[in-house]
Amino acid sequence: MPNPIPRPSTPYRRATGLFFTLLTAGSVAIAGENPRSRAEAEALLERMTLEEKIGQLALFTSFGATTGPPQDQAALEENIRAGNCGSVLNALSVAQIRKLQKIAVEESRLRVPLLFGYDVVHGYKTIFPIPLGETASWDLEAIERSARVAAVEAAAAGLDWTFAPMVDIARDPRWGRIAEGAGEDPFMGSAVAAARVRGFQGRDLTAPDSVLACVKHFAAYGAAVAGRDYNTVDMSERMLREVYLPPYAAGVEAGALSVMTSFNELNGTPATANSFLLRKVLRTEWGFKGIVVTDYTAINEMVAHGSAADEADAARQALAAGVDIDMVGGTFVHHLKQLVREGKVSRRQIQAGARRVLALKAQLGLLQDPFRHCDEAREARLLGARENLEAAYRMACESFVLLKNESQALPLKTGKTVAVIGPLADSSRDLLGCWKADGAWDSIDTVLGGIRRNNGDGQVVFAPGCDIASTNRAGFAEAIAAARTSDVIVAVVGESWDMSGEASCRTSINLPGAQTELLRELKQTGRPLVVVLMNGRPLALEEESAMADAMLEAWFPGTEGAKAVADVLFGKQNPAGKLPVTFPRRLGQAPIYYAAKNTGRPLDPANPKEPYKSSYLDCPNDPLYPFGFGLSYTTFNCAEPQLDQSRLLPGGCLTASATVSNTGQRDGAVVVQLYLRDLVGSVTRPVLELKGFQRLVLKAGEQRRISFNIRQQDLAFLRKDMTWGTEPGSYLAFIGLDSRELRSARFELARK
Ligand code: BGC
Repeated sequence: MPNPIPRPSTPYRRATGLFFTLLTAGSVAIAGENPRSRAEAEALLERMTLEEKIGQLALFTSFGATTGPPQDQAALEENIRAGNCGSVLNALSVAQIRKLQKIAVEESRLRVPLLFGYDVVHGYKTIFPIPLGETASWDLEAIERSARVAAVEAAAAGLDWTFAPMVDIARDPRWGRIAEGAGEDPFMGSAVAAARVRGFQGRDLTAPDSVLACVKHFAAYGAAVAGRDYNTVDMSERMLREVYLPPYAAGVEAGALSVMTSFNELNGTPATANSFLLRKVLRTEWGFKGIVVTDYTAINEMVAHGSAADEADAARQALAAGVDIDMVGGTFVHHLKQLVREGKVSRRQIQAGARRVLALKAQLGLLQDPFRHCDEAREARLLGARENLEAAYRMACESFVLLKNESQALPLKTGKTVAVIGPLADSSRDLLGCWKADGAWDSIDTVLGGIRRNNGDGQVVFAPGCDIASTNRAGFAEAIAAARTSDVIVAVVGESWDMSGEASCRTSINLPGAQTELLRELKQTGRPLVVVLMNGRPLALEEESAMADAMLEAWFPGTEGAKAVADVLFGKQNPAGKLPVTFPRRLGQAPIYYAAKNTGRPLDPANPKEPYKSSYLDCPNDPLYPFGFGLSYTTFNCAEPQLDQSRLLPGGCLTASATVSNTGQRDGAVVVQLYLRDLVGSVTRPVLELKGFQRLVLKAGEQRRISFNIRQQDLAFLRKDMTWGTEPGSYLAFIGLDSRELRSARFELARK
């Protein structure tokens, strides 16, 4: 019996209004709560000057890739010596880290070890699919394993801290950072956030293969107006608490001991100086005990936001709001001492931050052994190890979503001539996507290579046809000729790796450049057309999906991604991924998400042209591919759900069950989804809310009865009076294989 995916079932801190339970493979033992290391941290604090305490609140960047203004290396080393630096970003490899750590523990007055952080987002050396792709697996164990492998490699490279998971809910496909998160849904986002935190931190933070997780970007960064990065966010507290905050809460509850503030303002106050977020929600309501780090120069940016007169003022506001560490901005180092002199900042505030940082260093075991992650032999053994590559391969296979498959165009039969076309077919860099950490691409296979290896005695002809972004059609003729002489076309198209991720937003979500035109011409050849997509966001694929005989969403699948794509194309693996985000027909539908409200004039699908309904003149309301959608090489059926009772009593439990059958010819995995709808509320409720899912593997012809427990807390929401709880009344429970194809059963939540 496969493990049912744990569902939120017990209240998570009622006071916060969040009912997310934190999905639970046992809680993380936060190590270092041992009194000795605490006492050591305290003793250090007592010996520190004000400047040294401020130094613990400063994070400097080192040699590696930066996402903002770089810093001078000689100055970095000088600052470490002087005790002005508590942590370092972007130092890669044991050799670099050892060098800087030696300066800290041998040449600075109090010899306080540095904390080394980096963006290990979907792997360190072995790169896994981008987080959005991993989420498409709906396989929390695999997602946790991926974070574990990332931690093992990052720790082996000397790191203590990853700036991940990124848990921002994203509903606007223009926003490039949608690639880095878990998609549009708070339930899914919370489950994935917790899985990633568990994976990074392991069971013991002092273990040689654990790294500290950092839940980011707090908060609501994904709701940037018009999908433009760093833009303003303005939203109701209801929306914030119901949709955007749950994944951060889940990450904190799973044991993450650091949180990063976001670049955006929220309702007029930059998140980095937002005491509602940092004090009220994070520390008071959620009881967060770890450290708060800003995003890169986010304090300085408050001057540009227009909420601080100068950087000194910005530093004062950020510290007052609850920030502990200034990432790269240098504002604390430059201004806090003077602010203390002026009486604008108290020594106590600085002391509190420094205490938290030192306590964390103690908890990680750094005070006892500053070189705990510095072992070159380990580094050489673990980076890119065979078992890590195997895990990345499995995760990639699970992340693919089969969007279309007519006339069994897939899987491909070996021995036929395949025309491999498209600008991404022979690309290796793109496979890694954004935030590739230390991932190497010069030696990895491409999809073309994978197809060649799979195609037995058949032939493979390759012609890129065009490049990703230009409109140059010079390569079309060669591609069409290759297609004409082949039995089947595999067109690998999409976005380049740097079209999503930070500062990579688009006002069009069509295939860039001349790629759609190329597909049109390929279609004209009459050969079966298999489209493989690589991209970091939902794309608008109405025309492409109409032309394609089969279409496979491969995201950016990582180091082992090409082999995985080829193995899926040739049927060695059966795809089972489901979309974690809605794919619109056109960008004009965005933001579009399944958990929408009904409106007062909902469109009747049977009468879509009816005027004065909530609809568009030029496009249907429904998306091209809904949330939760994905096909397989076999077929599945989900029968009508049944409830064991029609009344749920407060404190009771009701079971919804359905029979799921593999009605096709091959074994396969399927994700069965539970959604609920509250029919009448004191405030309006979404038409559907995901509340559970189970991933099953069924043999051809096998059927299984699956069930979900529904408890009162699954029905809770932020009521009209802003208290969190339930209301008696009628509900629908839906079970199905995506958010569109659902059947329901009705029940009542009884008053008592
Ligand atoms: C990004 C963060 C990242 C940080 C450090 C920023 O630009 O927004 O997600 O962790 O840089 O690299």
